[in-house]
Amino acid sequence: MCGIVGYTGPREAYPIIIKGLQRLEYRGYDSTGVALLNHGLHVFKKKGKVAELAETLVGENLHAHIGIGHTRWATHGEPSDRNAHPHTSASGKLAMIHNGIIENYAQLKQELIKKGYTFKSDTDTEVLLNFIEDIRKNNQCNLEEALRIALKRVTGAYVILLIDEDDPETIIAARKGSPLVIGIGKGEHFLGSDASPMLEYTKEVVYVNDYELAIVKPDQLILKNLGNEKITPFVQKLDIELAAIEKGGYDHFMLKEINEQADTVFDCLRGRLDAEKGTITMAGVENNIEKLTKANRIIIIACGTSWHAGLVAEYIFEELCRTPVEVEYASEFRYRNPVVHPGDVIFAISQSGETADTLVAIEKAKQQGAFIFGVVNVVGSSIARTSHAGAYTHAGPEIGVASTKAFTAQLAVLTMVALKIAKQKGTIDEERYMHLLQELHDIPAKIAEVLKSSEKIKLLAEKYKDARDFLYLGRGYNFPVALEGALKLKEISYIHAEGYPAAEMKHGPIALVDESLPVVFVATKDKYHEKVVSNMQEIKARKGRVISVVTEGDDHSASLSESIMPVPAADEIVAPMLSVIPLQLLAYYIGVMKGYDVDKPRNLAKSVTVE
Ligand code: GLU
Repeated sequence: MCGIVGYTGPREAYPIIIKGLQRLEYRGYDSTGVALLNHGLHVFKKKGKVAELAETLVGENLHAHIGIGHTRWATHGEPSDRNAHPHTSASGKLAMIHNGIIENYAQLKQELIKKGYTFKSDTDTEVLLNFIEDIRKNNQCNLEEALRIALKRVTGAYVILLIDEDDPETIIAARKGSPLVIGIGKGEHFLGSDASPMLEYTKEVVYVNDYELAIVKPDQLILKNLGNEKITPFVQKLDIELAAIEKGGYDHFMLKEINEQADTVFDCLRGRLDAEKGTITMAGVENNIEKLTKANRIIIIACGTSWHAGLVAEYIFEELCRTPVEVEYASEFRYRNPVVHPGDVIFAISQSGETADTLVAIEKAKQQGAFIFGVVNVVGSSIARTSHAGAYTHAGPEIGVASTKAFTAQLAVLTMVALKIAKQKGTIDEERYMHLLQELHDIPAKIAEVLKSSEKIKLLAEKYKDARDFLYLGRGYNFPVALEGALKLKEISYIHAEGYPAAEMKHGPIALVDESLPVVFVATKDKYHEKVVSNMQEIKARKGRVISVVTEGDDHSASLSESIMPVPAADEIVAPMLSVIPLQLLAYYIGVMKGYDVDKPRNLAKSVTVE
């Protein structure tokens, strides 16, 4: 995930690009760069936000009528000046920016190294760029043809913009899996990850489709497919506000991020999980498989929503890997005198990778000889750097303060890690292993199904929004989901909510139940299901208002509930990635109906960098 901008035409390119990048910063903000063509190629790039690059360029000669710019969300190589885009090719003639991941970059890189290429960065992007240049050289073809040949070999997702010193009016673009919009002006063209960089110049845009190539000059736009056939561009007229574009048409980042989850979980599985072949590829696990399989104990350290993901992982690791697991609040762990041994493996989970308590807790465990495996979203973040190994969640920037898509991506990563360890240890049989890989593979499509019920959940929000308290109950894998549902509601609607293990409620919270208390059951079909149904009966007998997340077609649970939120059937190990979504939506709509700023709830911060 990153933001890209391009311009070719009579105006000064640099101000258009910088302003455009600032508007796209919600897509990524760890590094910024611009390449301009004006009697040669001029590249300016730097780790940090767009404003930081702009500040260092004050006073530079930035005159040019064509250029490309990038705001990065690192996936390959930490955020640094040298990994920032645009990248330049070995000859120095080509500059390229890229949004996405080239999955087979390691193989292409090896081929190029054999031919004598060296690399200035750790990115997949530079590999693709040199691959294109190498094809152009060997085939004596033009850049467009070289790009077409290269893309046939590439697996993964990309939008790329390319400029060539020897063709100072043209931007060549290609897309697969990441967004690209081209704005059509009079004698000029604009390119962007969305339309926000071009809104004040034109409302006429073309949305480029997957497997299409665009050759963009000031007064000409040619679209082609990878078979070199021309495609007639479909020009649309925009009728949209700037803020709405940044939020992808949603009212809030939180709603956008909830709705992105089918894609973000897919991105997280992409290139790793192959359900047909029965493989999971994760270098961080493979390179340390000995340590992970021989672990005496796993300690999961996290805060907030990540801690809930850790609780789900506890159940998964114990079930699949048969390794004892403890889940710790980082803030408690760091101030205790915890007993940690060299054979222990710590899983540190954090969206930002900067959570202060988690960082200190890791250091403490490290000093006692533990092996640290980080599960973070932000590439190159402090936790990523301080961990011995890890796996990124690849969910893209999460802007809404209440975490949503980071949670489901964390679950996807942790499930894959557990499956890999279990397979190596021999604690899972082949049939169950293959079944769970398929179940994981099916999750993004099932999330998309759940998201279709958004309007129905809005009606439920209307019905329950005035309650003073909520109780959330679940068992087994769904107990942490109950905690997460309650946390979401507290965070953004300021309604008091408690999450509890469904059976445990008899030891206290049941005293709260009366005809005014909504009790949300996370009651999808699993091995505890009958027990949860009994707990529902108990609440119903005391006139509590039962709202249930149920498996589609579960009429019995539905008949015991005042309201239901159905989700597709799934194995209990992967079900939390589905059952949490209606709860995110319920919290979101209640927060909005109460008139609160759900993206920035009071007193909360996105990344908790103080203890
Ligand atoms: N994979 C590229 C990188 O790590 C592009 C990431 C992006 O989309 O920002 O640099």
